[in-house]
Amino acid sequence: MGLIPSDGTRSHVLLFPFMSKGHTIPLLHFAKLLLRRSISVTVVTTPANHPFITEFLKGTAASVVTLLFPTVTNIPVGVESTDKLPSMSLFYEFASATSAMQPQFEQLLQTLPRVNFMVTDGFLWWTLDSATAFGIPRFVYYGMNCYSSSICIEAMRKGILNGSQPDNELVALTQFPWIRVCKEDFDPSFRDPNPNNDAHTFNMNSISSTHRSHGMLFNSFYELESTFVDYVNAGASPKGWCVGPLCLAEWTPKVYSDEGLKPRWVTWLDQKLEEKRRVVYVAFGSQAEISVEQLKEIALGLEESEVSFVWVMRKEEWGVPDGFEERVKGRGMVVREWVDQREILMHGSVELFVSHCGWNSVLESVCAGVPILAWPMMAEQYLNARMVEEEVKVGLRVETCDGSVRGFVKREGLKKTMMEMMEGEKGRKAREKVRELAEKAKLATQEGGSSWSTLESLLNETCASQDKEWSYFKVS
Ligand code: UDP
Repeated sequence: MGLIPSDGTRSHVLLFPFMSKGHTIPLLHFAKLLLRRSISVTVVTTPANHPFITEFLKGTAASVVTLLFPTVTNIPVGVESTDKLPSMSLFYEFASATSAMQPQFEQLLQTLPRVNFMVTDGFLWWTLDSATAFGIPRFVYYGMNCYSSSICIEAMRKGILNGSQPDNELVALTQFPWIRVCKEDFDPSFRDPNPNNDAHTFNMNSISSTHRSHGMLFNSFYELESTFVDYVNAGASPKGWCVGPLCLAEWTPKVYSDEGLKPRWVTWLDQKLEEKRRVVYVAFGSQAEISVEQLKEIALGLEESEVSFVWVMRKEEWGVPDGFEERVKGRGMVVREWVDQREILMHGSVELFVSHCGWNSVLESVCAGVPILAWPMMAEQYLNARMVEEEVKVGLRVETCDGSVRGFVKREGLKKTMMEMMEGEKGRKAREKVRELAEKAKLATQEGGSSWSTLESLLNETCASQDKEWSYFKVS
């Protein structure tokens, strides 16, 4: 790991990701893109997140600096990322507490060489004040795509979130009449008719500081959602820059010098490939909370459907029905460790991703050419699921027992939609479409592609022009 860059003439970018895996990983990919263009990078984080980040950036010249995470009443000491929270109901307390880091952040800015621009998470809304005080352009990153951002804006304009219609009644959007959404598609914190709570204050702070920032960085690519990229850039300030899929910043299949180093689930997938078995990958990201009853239905749905599967669980304590693992042995594997999700998705045996539709998971699946069975669980994942099924058509939505957006999924609903994706016409079409998009994603990130060119313009605007001013200033 390099030291803080001391060469003042080199362009230098500061990245400050929010403390959750889904927000951090894409910015670390972005760091690699910048480093490849000979730009110095400083990543700001907290002590408990430091090991994950340094491991991710191992072998690069990025600097990683830490600021202490504040002490917060209901958050155990040492819990500094959302995947470690005892409950996601503590999210707003956790996220709001970060604002106490502002004085430390500003002390750090005083010690750093000139920063051409910073990319900080939308949840770290207070970093805008620091950026402004130091005259540094701030780009905001939320980890959302342009489709869901546009729909949120349009739904608010139309009053859908606080309307008197039933929670699951679909209403067409004025600007995008082919899209129909309901109240349940949006997070409850945005639907509260009498907002006077921490969540509302936090959301308003984030939105307001976003509007006053220099730009927004999107982990997306123009060809995937051009209508919505254009919408974001036509109306909303600040300008949106699509520089993704960021996961394509690096992808060389892992080579293991020793078979013993290969994770057991990869060895297992290799075996399935040899046996010509098509595997379903099941994972719900790093934050989702799933009830005991729902876990049981997932397990029984997988068992009864007789598919081959790898199910990655994020919590050791998530239970499955007695004897489940024994009964599915040979065709199903349950993993309770952190995996390299992209390695699994890119594996030749994987044919379907049963996913919560966190935006990174959707993009990683698209890049791997794997269709999605969408099972949203929180945040903007309900909109991502609409995008997957209705807009880009790379998957289907899992069937809930009452047809509602947030309804319980019974084993029959899982089995039925999973089989449609593996064997049916809808699955065939989604597979065809996702493979087409995988190619487009690759092209977008290659030299001359849309995302590559967008990053080039962003760097021209922030680094090249500032570097000129800087050298002029130094000469005179
Ligand atoms: N991830 C991973 N291994 C795991 C769990 C998650 O690599 O065992 C990665 C996944 O590839 C993605 C990120 O963590 O890049 C999760 O982000 P996403 O937006 O999909 O969901 P979130 O966790 O934010 O709900």
